[in-house]
Amino acid sequence: MFKSKIFLTTIGIGFALAGISALLAYFYEPLRTFFFILAIILFIVHLMFSQLAYVFYLLKRDAYLKSMNMRRCGHCNNPVYKDDEVCPYCKKPLEKETRD
Ligand SMILES: [Zn+2]
Repeated sequence: MFKSKIFLTTIGIGFALAGISALLAYFYEPLRTFFFILAIILFIVHLMFSQLAYVFYLLKRDAYLKSMNMRRCGHCNNPVYKDDEVCPYCKKPLEKETRD
């Protein structure tokens, strides 16, 4: 879960900026169209960024498990050691890992 606080803060700031732009669009008439478009762009960009960052985080997390000689339980998705035969979390038998 490292860096997740920074990640959440970044996302929060992004959505806050989008919100401020939307407010400005509402109150500041001369540049209403500009701020309205800016708000939409900020919102979409941050939505995509958060999705990307999440996927990246999942990939990194699994790479970390691999380096620690671990894998995920196929039943409960918790990290287990590669030579475990029964999952310590859900107590279900683990299937033998297929190489690559
Ligand atoms: Zn399990």
